[in-house]
Amino acid sequence: MIWYPYSQMQTMPAPIKIKSAKGVHLFTEDGHDLIDSVSSWWSVIHGYCHPEMNQAIAGQLENFAHVMLGGLTHDPVQKLSEKLENWLPGDLNYCFFSDSGSVAVEVALKMALQWNTNRGSSRSTILALEHAYHGDTFKAMEVGDDEDYHFAFGKNSEKKRGVVHIPTEIPALEKAFQEYGNELSCFIVEPLLQGAGGMRMYDVSFLKRARQLCDEYDVLLIFDEVATGFGRTGNRFVADLVLPDILVLGKALTGGYIGHAATVANRRVYEGFLSDDPTHAFMHGPTFMGNALACAAALKSIELFEKGGYMSRIRHIEDISRREIGSLTHPDIREVRIMGGCACIEVNDSSVLKGFREFACENGVFARPFLKYMYTMPPYVISEEELVKILTVMRRWFTEVR
Ligand SMILES: *Cc1c(COP(=O)(O)O)cnc(C)c1O
Repeated sequence: MIWYPYSQMQTMPAPIKIKSAKGVHLFTEDGHDLIDSVSSWWSVIHGYCHPEMNQAIAGQLENFAHVMLGGLTHDPVQKLSEKLENWLPGDLNYCFFSDSGSVAVEVALKMALQWNTNRGSSRSTILALEHAYHGDTFKAMEVGDDEDYHFAFGKNSEKKRGVVHIPTEIPALEKAFQEYGNELSCFIVEPLLQGAGGMRMYDVSFLKRARQLCDEYDVLLIFDEVATGFGRTGNRFVADLVLPDILVLGKALTGGYIGHAATVANRRVYEGFLSDDPTHAFMHGPTFMGNALACAAALKSIELFEKGGYMSRIRHIEDISRREIGSLTHPDIREVRIMGGCACIEVNDSSVLKGFREFACENGVFARPFLKYMYTMPPYVISEEELVKILTVMRRWFTEVR
């Protein structure tokens, strides 16, 4: 028996069984063709069954699928770390690999904490954002601000003891640094676009001010770009605009083929672990870190991203989204938000979206609305016609069904 994610198993509708998938299309067992409007949790940026991606993995499989990084190393992981070193901005050059975004967030937080301990500081408070989502492991849940997890920490959140949550507003940011600046080990954010917290978008000026304050108060700035990385916000990485000390990548890193993630530190963070004292080493090592198939997939994914003109594709996706739903108004709609390869319609009440998933399905689109959010984050290879089909289904829910 499969225990499905984020579901009340007693009432969960039967999941749709997929037989094969190609490009942006999911082909169901009972013969339907559905356009995937959410890229399998935002990861499948090149679409399904991409011949070059398939070939990259098959090629590596001829050599070996996996060897551990404990005492061993290999070409795919070395090439991927070199590629990231060259490709990422600034001196974000030190790659710690792991198997999922949540674990990569744990790694980033542990790094920030120990970086402070190593230099004899007792700073342990973490600054984070309201409505943040950083994954489902425990520390990630603590820095997150998702009501679904409040059960784990009790009402009124005892969790807030080591973590301070602020809204994405500069006055609140400045106040938090005044109040806690000298206790903070790090400030972790999903930059520009908060995904699972409701596709909330905010201005880069907030991040620029955050960078200044982190410098002023000697606090590490962590960008969780598990969702925003690889173009989703219309920037290659938000780190291209404002440079963090630690960058977390996941989801699209492997083009959605194999779970893998990277926590990339700058020189200053890395050097904080270099010492004659063995206890200053970073004691962490996921079994499947640097998995060779995942690294081969990531290398090919980055190559496709670079040679495929993806940034202009994403601009095109944004333009079409604005044209099709940008000015949509309806009594049920609270706000329409569009940024890069993400378009979201926030409604006034979650009941408004009841039945939308089925409606989309009947019209050839796989959608997965949650709470008050109807959204699309399509694969970047989507054609204009296919994207218009998704956005039309979203619009018709209000203009024809509601
Ligand atoms: C999805 C997500 C994670 C968690 O990644 P997993 O691979 O599911 O563990 C962390 N941070 C952000 C911003 C995410 O969107």
